[in-house]
Amino acid sequence: MTAHLTADVCVIGAGAGGAVVAAELAEGGADVILLEQGPRHDPGAFTAHPPEMLARLYRDGGQTVTLGAPPILLPLGRGIGGTTLVNSGTCFRTPPRVLARWERELGLETMTPAQLEPAFARVEEALSIAPVTPALAGRNAEVARRGAAALGWSHGWLRRNARGCVGSGVCAFGCPSGAKQDVGSVYVPRAQAAGARVLTGADVRRIVARAGRVRGVEVRISGAPGADSGAADADRGATGALRGLPARAREVFVAADTVVLAAGTIHTPGLLRRSRLAGRSGQLGRNLSLHPATAAFALMDEEVNMAHGVPQSLYVDEFADEGIVFEGVAGPPAYAAASLPLTGRRHAEAMADYKRLAQFGLMVSDSSRGRVHVVAGRPVVRYDLVAADVAKVRAGLARLEQLFLAAGAREVYLPLPPGTRPHQAKARDLKLMAFHPLGTARAHRDPAQGVVDQDLRHHEVEGLHVADGSVVPSALGVNPQLTIMALATRLAYALLDRPIPTEETATACRS
Ligand SMILES: Cc1cc2nc3c(=O)[nH]c(=O)nc-3n(C[C@H](O)[C@H](O)[C@H](O)COP(=O)(O)OP(=O)(O)OC[C@H]3O[C@@H](n4cnc5c(N)ncnc54)[C@H](O)[C@@H]3O)c2cc1C
Ligand code: SF4
Repeated sequence: MTAHLTADVCVIGAGAGGAVVAAELAEGGADVILLEQGPRHDPGAFTAHPPEMLARLYRDGGQTVTLGAPPILLPLGRGIGGTTLVNSGTCFRTPPRVLARWERELGLETMTPAQLEPAFARVEEALSIAPVTPALAGRNAEVARRGAAALGWSHGWLRRNARGCVGSGVCAFGCPSGAKQDVGSVYVPRAQAAGARVLTGADVRRIVARAGRVRGVEVRISGAPGADSGAADADRGATGALRGLPARAREVFVAADTVVLAAGTIHTPGLLRRSRLAGRSGQLGRNLSLHPATAAFALMDEEVNMAHGVPQSLYVDEFADEGIVFEGVAGPPAYAAASLPLTGRRHAEAMADYKRLAQFGLMVSDSSRGRVHVVAGRPVVRYDLVAADVAKVRAGLARLEQLFLAAGAREVYLPLPPGTRPHQAKARDLKLMAFHPLGTARAHRDPAQGVVDQDLRHHEVEGLHVADGSVVPSALGVNPQLTIMALATRLAYALLDRPIPTEETATACRS
């Protein structure tokens, strides 16, 4: 039997976009239900052991891979906090040149730096965003900083959402000290404190619309009866049921006149498609950009010890105009062993010298565009790297080698087949990962060109909005979480029909 719940707003997905919308709306007085397919993870049980945490915190153990040349590993988080729970904490505002291009090419004229300013400021305050200190950054970052300084390349400390960070070096495997201000530990508790109901293990199967208007969502609850299905303690009665929901309910219909879809760039298209809400533009699932990324290692004379320090703490943006940015990456021995591009005896020897290994990453602003298909109910990502992006990765690897040599590296290990120099690398030679999928339900002013409008309203279904990475219409050249959260904040205040509070309005209210 299907259980029924009602809310003013139903939010799907508790990641960067969904958690922010849910909290802002609940605090603004809306009756909100937040549905998350994954579980609530307990930071107290985070072990800092990469293989174990990958299996627990990532969708499919972090083994999502694209089809194409080359295949690209595309890890995604799943659970309260979404991918923010496992991300590196780097925070950049959307570059003004990107916003200007969106305005020019996509008609997104309400996404200017000035209009987004209050939304950025609000998120930055909520997440305690601040630059990393050199002391916390650790010696791995110092190697790269020294190389960049010697070459005269532009670089700087990254801004991050962490408070009380101790530089334990495992951000991608769940922050054991609770320092990282992921949305699951900041916005979801705020949403609950303001009365939002949060349901984990809630797999949204379909968004229901009739006569051009959204009516609600159909949910299947997974897990043992009552086991974390109504995650919020505040929401659960003695029987473990969510307020208003029988403990053993397996099928739920949430009736709501407003639905905010935030299942992430890879899952949002599938959910819209199986709800028969793909729209007529033909754009759903297309326009996927990824920021393809890779990393090199170097053997140094000095002790580096990548297990200490903030893994992603320094950026080098000397080549940002060419679409190439370097950002730190590092981790404990179990992580290094899996990513070190060596085999056999050479791998064992380099790992024996783990404390002298340094690592740094690069990502490219891609012009390649992939597509999310749905096969047997699951998303399948097709993405081929175009020649221009292969050239960017090659140039990036050559410069990463230069950076390490300028820092005094004894040897540099590039992620290429033995004997292959960067300029010789073909697409199939590249070992790529991607952390920033964007664009599969892109915002565009023209309903024939996009899935949502510039205010993130679905072009064809009243009451349906999208607020995750899928609406971000192109590669940003910088890490995207702050962009997604700022757009989510802006959407929440548009739904509340009031301006985003600023420092000035807060001061005025206090005085
Ligand atoms: C290892 C790693 C490091 C990264 N580092 C950074 C960084 O330093 N800085 C940065 O800016 N970005 C970083 N990112 C990217 C950033 O975390 C993502 O861009 C961002 O979290 C995406 O937000 P989202 O709301 O689109 O999706 P997500 O945060 O992934 O949230 C989507 C949520 O929806 C849920 N969901 C999916 N389908 C359903 C369904 N049918 N029903 C209910 N719920 C559903 C999912 O389980 C998930 O919890 C990193 C990513 C990774 C993988
Ligand atoms: S470096 Fe360690 S303490 Fe700091 S945010 Fe990352 S996991 Fe948390």
